Amino acid sequence: MKTTAPAISFHNVTLGYDRHPAVHHISGEISRGELLAVVGPNGAGKSTLLKGIVGELKPLSGSLSLDGLGKRDIAYLPQVIEIDRSFPISVFDCVAMGLWRTIGAWRGLRARDKQAVIGALRTVDLVELADRPVGSLSGGQFQRMLFARLLLQDAAVILLDEPFRAVDTRTVAELIALIERWHREGRTVLAALHDIEQVRAHFPDTLLLAREVVAWGKTPQVLTPANLAKSRTLTEAFDSHAEICERDEELERETA
Ligand code: ADP
Repeated sequence: MKTTAPAISFHNVTLGYDRHPAVHHISGEISRGELLAVVGPNGAGKSTLLKGIVGELKPLSGSLSLDGLGKRDIAYLPQVIEIDRSFPISVFDCVAMGLWRTIGAWRGLRARDKQAVIGALRTVDLVELADRPVGSLSGGQFQRMLFARLLLQDAAVILLDEPFRAVDTRTVAELIALIERWHREGRTVLAALHDIEQVRAHFPDTLLLAREVVAWGKTPQVLTPANLAKSRTLTEAFDSHAEICERDEELERETA
């Protein structure tokens, strides 16, 4: 039984697009301070779940609560492909955007804010590139810059969608060290990941998805060959065009 207070609670939540469920009937809790990997094959619903937590998607049914937390307490890093890299701003300014919560959108940076930005850039080893346009960075540098921005956001809950995609091995190690630091600081961290070995090595808890929860708990108990095989089969078999899932149909028949 979990003893710590939940950070996020799911109450039979179904999330989807245009009334089509993408991930359904999720119930459970994520404790404060948990370091949780969200794992599953392509199309399993990992991104959808993170979008539901951050409020980009409203549940089609059920509900989701952020216990005692507001949206401002959540920092969210979408997948690289969803981020516009051609945006014409400097690395420094992009990282400084992580401070908007504390300084407001339109106030100028004070000396100590600038120091905080430099400190975050130093942590990810990008100080020398502070004046470069973001579009000129390599994949690994770009992701390090986004992590520096997350550092400044100082959020209680951090959601990362495939944070190591298109990132070199050295950078992955550095970013994992930052995630572990957030974990030690007591923040709740969720990361959607596809590299099972990475998850086994660094994430104590795992939520295995295949359009629904296949298994959820301690990583070694969740990532068994049987569960992984089940998650592949279930994801492949899921009917994306269904307006309503079989479980809801059963319920309707029972209550008719
Ligand atoms: P994962 O992150 O595990 O790869 P996703 O959450 O991206 O899975 O996708 C789950 C399902 O939702 C997939 O069938 C995908 O095609 C669908 N989906 C994702 N984004 C959208 C969208 N913007 N509009 C319609 N369907 C979407």
